[in-house]
Amino acid sequence: MKNTEKLTEINVVLTSYLNIYKNKMPTIDEVAEHCKINRTRTYRYLIKLEKLGLIKRNKRTRIKISNGVYYYRCYICKQHKQIKEYYKNKNKKHGIGSTCKDCTREYEASDNIKLYKHNYYINNKEEIIYKNKTYLQNRSQEKIKEARIKKNIRTREWKKRNNEKISAIESFRGIKAKEIPCELLELKIMQLRLKRRIKQIEEKKNGKETVSR
Ligand SMILES: [Zn+2]
Repeated sequence: MKNTEKLTEINVVLTSYLNIYKNKMPTIDEVAEHCKINRTRTYRYLIKLEKLGLIKRNKRTRIKISNGVYYYRCYICKQHKQIKEYYKNKNKKHGIGSTCKDCTREYEASDNIKLYKHNYYINNKEEIIYKNKTYLQNRSQEKIKEARIKKNIRTREWKKRNNEKISAIESFRGIKAKEIPCELLELKIMQLRLKRRIKQIEEKKNGKETVSR
């Protein structure tokens, strides 16, 4: 269906909708559901209609606050989760992706996506290789060096900040960091923290005993 046809179709259904609910201005979601249209695909037109004052934007927000903690809704599983359960994404409003880590992982690992990526690579292999090559060629050596140094600094700083996390991940021998559930990792961090604390206390005790003897 062409875009203009789609728009007229929406207009027709919207008129019928407005006739039924005379005094109530519908939201984008309500119109999408009523017109049985794919909301994401026709979103631009719905926004246009919103600008014309025919429909209003959904009032739904992603955030839920409870006990001062912010929870964000995941687009796939619809659950509210804390910020640490999302991957960072600077381009998004809240600085995090729209799907939680678990859902993102599942999505990326699904056969359809894998197949899609594989097929895309095969069909566009030459173009991709050419683009990568020219990109590397066009970058000056200085810039490459600069970027490498910056990356090293970032990694070092991250390692410093996530010292506990790294040792917790290492304790799960042979398992990839991605595959360890967040909650389990947190428990492991707590366990290691406690172990360290106990060790410290014991060392202190032993030190005192040897001094007193
Ligand atoms: Zn999710």
